[in-house]
Amino acid sequence: MDFSMKRRTLLKVIVLGDGGVGKTSLMNQYVYNKFNPLYKATIGADFVTKELQIDDKMVTLQIWDTAGQERFQSLGSAFYRGADCCVLVFDVNIQRSFEMLSNWHEEFLKQADPSNPESFPFVVIGNKIDLDYGNSRMVPEEKARDWCASRGNIPYFETSAKEGYNVDEAFLCVAKTAVACE
Ligand code: GDP
Ligand code: MG
Repeated sequence: MDFSMKRRTLLKVIVLGDGGVGKTSLMNQYVYNKFNPLYKATIGADFVTKELQIDDKMVTLQIWDTAGQERFQSLGSAFYRGADCCVLVFDVNIQRSFEMLSNWHEEFLKQADPSNPESFPFVVIGNKIDLDYGNSRMVPEEKARDWCASRGNIPYFETSAKEGYNVDEAFLCVAKTAVACE
């Protein structure tokens, strides 16, 4: 038996959300354990990969970054198609980024057109909770949890890409829900 052929799964993960909420930072923290305080708008779309083991399965997460500012049009449905999980990110300190979650959610389902939209795995991340200490928080945790509950119990994580808080946990959930839906 060739052990290199041990069940290996490639999962395509799409990260969506308004510009500036921390999508690129979350990915950099998760994959490289690095945080860059300088804001550099992502151009177009790109991906990073991370390998992890879930039970007896080797899983490669292929995590696609997007430039939120570019909105949906330029990405096109080819970018979304074949996704195994969609991560929706907002900034807990910016109300509008939370309100936009519904648009991103809807747009993803429209573009990716998954066979079972009701059970397609999403994960929601409320990022930048480290800024909360400065009383800048605009979106209460309960409000975010309600939103997730009303859309088929989407798992919700509060993170700080800056401090590396809860980032691994959020992406582990991404991998697990995607594997479960395979
Ligand atoms: P993107 O446009 O969604 O990819 O957002 P970026 O990852 O580029 O982050 C936008 C800005 O927010 C950058 O200046 C980051 O350094 C900063 N940022 C990202 N995540 C956090 C976080 O968790 N806490 C704080 N304080 N700043 C963050
Ligand atoms: Mg970016």
